[in-house]
Amino acid sequence: MTDTIFGKIIRREIPASIVYEDDDILGFRDIAPQAPVHVLFIPKHQPIPTLDDAAAGDAALLGRLMLAAAAYARREGLAQDGYRVVMNCREHAGQTVFHIHLHLLAGAPLGQFGTP
Ligand code: 5GP
Repeated sequence: MTDTIFGKIIRREIPASIVYEDDDILGFRDIAPQAPVHVLFIPKHQPIPTLDDAAAGDAALLGRLMLAAAAYARREGLAQDGYRVVMNCREHAGQTVFHIHLHLLAGAPLGQFGTP
């Protein structure tokens, strides 16, 4: 995988507020939160830059990213009020870090999104 800032977070070479970890997934607070709760979930081992680079064999990993976000939300008492998960892919979505990641946004009613 082309190394990114998230690789450095996985290797603990730079600090991050890590709030979730299992064998495959790391979750940490976004440095520039867009909601009261903004956590990024990333795979620790698989070299996938964007969703467009994911293959059929990555299906379980992608599912684990979603389930990690859901488990975290449940654990933190966010599930009942609800939350949003977002994965940006490349330029038009504003992807800036090319290590696949799922955003979890929660903690307040969220505005609409998706329009140019
Ligand atoms: P993207 O725009 O690629 O979907 O999301 C990348 C996210 O990573 C952005 O929300 C950005 O604020 C966050 N980010 C970038 N660099 C760092 C960092 O060094 N630490 C943390 N915790 N988040 C970062």
